[in-house]
Amino acid sequence: NFKNLNLSNIIEQTIFEFSSEAHKKDISLIFLKPETEIPEILGDEEMLRVVFQNLIENAIKYENRNDKIFISLKYNLKNKEVEISIRDTGIGIKKEDQARIFDKFYRGGNAIKKDETGTGLGLFAAKNIIEHHKGKIWVESKVKSGTTFFIKLPIS
Ligand code: ATP
Ligand code: MG
Repeated sequence: NFKNLNLSNIIEQTIFEFSSEAHKKDISLIFLKPETEIPEILGDEEMLRVVFQNLIENAIKYENRNDKIFISLKYNLKNKEVEISIRDTGIGIKKEDQARIFDKFYRGGNAIKKDETGTGLGLFAAKNIIEHHKGKIWVESKVKSGTTFFIKLPIS
């Protein structure tokens, strides 16, 4: 169900939905908003909400108490893309796991140790949805220092 969307509003609302979850661990969710208005993107609102929910949920789940999570949204005029990142300072992901975390049902060993609940479907779904929007999603991470997920979505 593709429509023109204001991503900034959607991300802001998703952050708000997770505010009490974050509060329980004394985590701050900080939205680094675009400095200027960004163009609308053509996308499926429900599906993109699922992506942001899964990534923010993970960031909180695998973050340490008392830390900060930064969510940023930018417009890259030259490439006609929006760029989103979700950065935590939590448990991190081992190099050998990084290639597999987007697979169906895959859960990292340190994640299982930290939080026994989870199906390993969140990132699988996120990747599928982003690819249906002709976008890209990838991760950069270091064990015990944190993880950043990046998304790029084309404007048209
Ligand atoms: P669920 O289906 O409930 O989301 P999950 O969180 O284990 O379960 P995914 O969201 O698909 O599943 O994530 C897959 C794996 O990627 C996790 O098990 C964990 O190992 C790793 N992971 C994802 N996000 C993070 C993060 N922010 N920090 C550290 N590890 C992460
Ligand atoms: Mg998850």
